[in-house]
Amino acid sequence: NLFEGFKLNRQLLNAIDDAGYTAPTPIQEQAIPLAMAGHDVLGIAQTGTGKTAAFVLPLLMKIKFAQGDSPKALILAPTRELVMQIAAAVVELSRYTDIRTVALYGGIGPKSQIEALRRGVDILVTTPQRFLDLYAKEEIILKHIHTMVLDEADKMLDMGFMPQIRRILEVIPRKRQNLLFSATFQEKVEKFSFEFLEFPMRVEV
Ligand code: AMP
Repeated sequence: NLFEGFKLNRQLLNAIDDAGYTAPTPIQEQAIPLAMAGHDVLGIAQTGTGKTAAFVLPLLMKIKFAQGDSPKALILAPTRELVMQIAAAVVELSRYTDIRTVALYGGIGPKSQIEALRRGVDILVTTPQRFLDLYAKEEIILKHIHTMVLDEADKMLDMGFMPQIRRILEVIPRKRQNLLFSATFQEKVEKFSFEFLEFPMRVEV
C-alpha cells in the first residue's frame, strides 16, 4: 500500500486498507506531508478528489489517541449532509483508535448532540450555526482546540457564513494549525485565506 510512504501509524494504515485505498490521490500526495509537518494548508480541490482523507489523516496522526474530554480539532462544513459525510470518514479512518468524533448540525433537536459532547469528544465536525448555538449553551469547551479545518470554504462564504466563522475564530485559541479546503479560489476565498491562514502552503489539483 502506497500510503506506507507517509509517517502514518499502523492503526491508520489498517483502516486505510479496510477502506480499500491502495494509493494516495494527488491532493493527498501533496497535502498530507505538509499538514503533518505542521504547516497551515490551503487546498484547492473539488469533491471526489479525496480531499477529506487529505485533512483527516494528518489530524488523526496529530491526535493519535483520546486525550481529555474536550475537543482538540474543529472541522467546519457548510451543510448537515457534508458534516455527516466528513464525520463518517473520520469514524472510518479512526476505527482502530479510541478517538471520539461528534457531529453537530441543525434540523434536529440538540439533546443527543449535547449528550455526545458530555461523554467526551476529540474531533468535532460541525456546521457554524449549531456550533455557536451549543457554545452559547456552554456545552463546548474550546481551550484545547489546536487544529481547525474549514471544508468547502467557497460554499460557506457563498452561503453567508462569514459572520459566524469570524465569531468562531474570535473564541477559539489563537495558536493552532489551520487547514482550508475550497473547490474554487475566488476573490472572497483568497481574502479570507489571508485572515485565516498563517504562511500557508498551497496545494491544488
Ligand atoms: P472526497 O473527495 O473526500 O469526497 O472523496 C471522494 C471519494 O473517494 C470518497 O468516497 C472516498 O472514500 C474515496 N477516496 C478517498 N481517498 C481515496 C484513495 N486514496 N483511494 C481510493 N478512494 C479514495
